[in-house]
This record gives sequence, C-alpha cells and structure tokens, in this order.
Amino acid sequence: MLNTILFITVRFLDLVDIFLVAFLMYQIYMLIRGTVAINIFVGIFSVYLLWLIVKALNMNLLSSILGQFIGVGVIALIIVFQQELRRFLLMIGTRYIFNRKFSFEQLFSYNHQAINKFNLNAIINACKRMSKSKTGALIVIATKSELSTYVQTGDIINADISNRLLESIFFKNNPLHDGAVVIVGNKIKAARCVLPLSNRTDLPADLGLRHRASIGLTEITDAIVIAVSEESGRTYFIFKKRLD
Ligand code: ATP
Ligand code: MG
Repeated sequence: MLNTILFITVRFLDLVDIFLVAFLMYQIYMLIRGTVAINIFVGIFSVYLLWLIVKALNMNLLSSILGQFIGVGVIALIIVFQQELRRFLLMIGTRYIFNRKFSFEQLFSYNHQAINKFNLNAIINACKRMSKSKTGALIVIATKSELSTYVQTGDIINADISNRLLESIFFKNNPLHDGAVVIVGNKIKAARCVLPLSNRTDLPADLGLRHRASIGLTEITDAIVIAVSEESGRTYFIFKKRLD
C-alpha cells in the first residue's frame, strides 16, 4: 500500500546502491580534488546527466547523439587519464606496491618524489634579494597538479632551480620578467605564464593584478604561489587552506 502511494518502489538494495554510488563519487572527488582531472570529471558527469534527462524526456535525436558520446566515453577516459593509468599499472608491476602503502595520492601526484629534492633555499634566497631590491616576482610551485594549462601560456625553460636564474628572469629588462614562473618538481618549468585572476572584491586596493592572479590560481588549484611586490618589496605566500 505504502508503495503505491509513493508511486515508486524503493527496495533495501536500491538504498545500498545509492549509498555505494555516493560513496564512490565522494572518493573519486577526494582523489582528484585540486588536480586538472576534476574539470574533466565534472565535464563528463554533466554530459552523462544531460543524457539521462534527455532520455527520460524521450528526445530521441539528442539522446542518440549524447549516447554516442557516452559510448566512446570509456575510450576517452583511457586517453585522458593515460598517464595516470600507466603510473597505476607501473605501480602494480613494481615492488613499490609491496614495500610501501598503496596510496591513490601517489597515483595522482605528478611530482611526489621530486618535491622533496627541490631547491627551496634557492627560491627563498632569490625572493629575499628581490624583495630588498624591490624587483617584482611571481613564482608558482606546483604540488599535485602539474599546472600544464598555465605552463602552456608561457615560455618553456626546464632548468634546474637556482637563485641566480630566478633573479635574472625577474630582472626588469629581461624579456621573460613579465608574468609568472612555474616550478614543477625540481625544475623551473616555464616563465611568462599567465595566471587566472580572482574575482574577489574584498582585496585591499593596493594589491594589483600580480596579487589578484596569485589568489586566482590558488582558488582553483592546489599550487603554492610566492609574490614579491615591486611597489612595497613585500613577499606574500599564497596557498589554499585545506579544510580537512
Ligand atoms: P606590485 O605590488 O608588484 O606592483 P601588483 O599586485 O600591483 O604588484 P600589477 O602592478 O598590476 O600588480 O602587475 C605587476 C605584474 O604582475 C605585471 O607586470 C605582470 O608581470 C604580473 N601579472 C599581472 N597579472 C598577471 C597574470 N594574470 N598572470 C601572471 N602575471 C601577472
Ligand atoms: Mg602594481
């Protein structure tokens, strides 16, 4: 009787099903949070949702077109996550998995080991000197996400980190001084990179585009940004506060 009033029948197994899907989605979200993969995931999920709606409304043409998309979705996923899948298979194949705890964090971390080796002192020394000489600088340190979208906007350098190199990049007459330097692992990956601006309205008026760009990037990625102001010589560290 209750079932007829509710119109749909909800079995216990359906609840388990919903719970498992919710749990899986949450795990996937936690796994790819802060990486570029999240955008891809949201994109694919939106197409899938749209497909379900269109199908329920019996819009045949659109549903068959979207159906084709979903049909090749698995192949698309394999192509998009090719590197992660490769790393995953390699991890299974090597003794790594037996020696250390298996972690998904490792799988999606592009520069997990390199980050330990990277030359932090050089960056700090360069910032100290640039702060003293009031040389403006914007340095992005990639953590989990490789930031390739932003690296592509600049000129590739791929050099070892050194304070002299950093200082000369930001030296006022250097053609590379405009924009941000992106550090991935233990390499200065690129210079002259363009970062996304934050839309926040509560920033102090004396913070211009350099600072707005550093906040903008940390809003959507897990990168750490160091900004040296050419007006005040102040050095700012900008990073996303983890809520968990
Ligand atoms: P400063 O205190 O150093 O003057 P600011 O916050 O006032 O910093 P601006 O004077 O507006 O910033 O810009 C300074 C430099 O910041 C620009 O010349 C450019 O190199 C860099 N910059 C500005 N916007 C971006 C962006 N979106 N991405 C990367 N670099 C940027
Ligand atoms: Mg300024």
